[in-house]
Amino acid sequence: MPIDSKQPYDDGNIFAKILKGDLPCKKVMENEHVLAFHDINPLAPVHVLVIPKGPYVSWDDFSETASDVEIAALTRAVGEVAKMVGADAQGYRVLSNVGKRAGQEVPHLHIHIFGGQPLGPMLA
Ligand code: IMP
Repeated sequence: MPIDSKQPYDDGNIFAKILKGDLPCKKVMENEHVLAFHDINPLAPVHVLVIPKGPYVSWDDFSETASDVEIAALTRAVGEVAKMVGADAQGYRVLSNVGKRAGQEVPHLHIHIFGGQPLGPMLA
């Protein structure tokens, strides 16, 4: 069910549970500010999600209220993870759905990285 990107942060969401260690994930990398893990329902041979550890619903509140350190950490992590999973060699896509009309389902900011195949005009 798509979510409203303006809703308050709900710390019972599935990615918050992954961050707390209450649910498992296939981890790609982790540091003080960021966690990256394989998508449970991959839409391409490479499909990884990169999330901030802070409580942000979407790119909306993250870009407005996150610290410069958090923003830099997430941005750097996306490039780092793309290299770690080998997506950088042949090109990859970075995407974040924001709110209902974009089809955002999980109310914790996540950046999708797609790769490993030629990518059409739209994905996810
Ligand atoms: P959205 O539509 O941009 O919100 O994407 C949510 C993504 O989270 C989808 O690609 C789901 O497959 C993925 N997802 C949902 N639950 C889990 C999980 O427990 N582990 C990993 N990925 C998940």
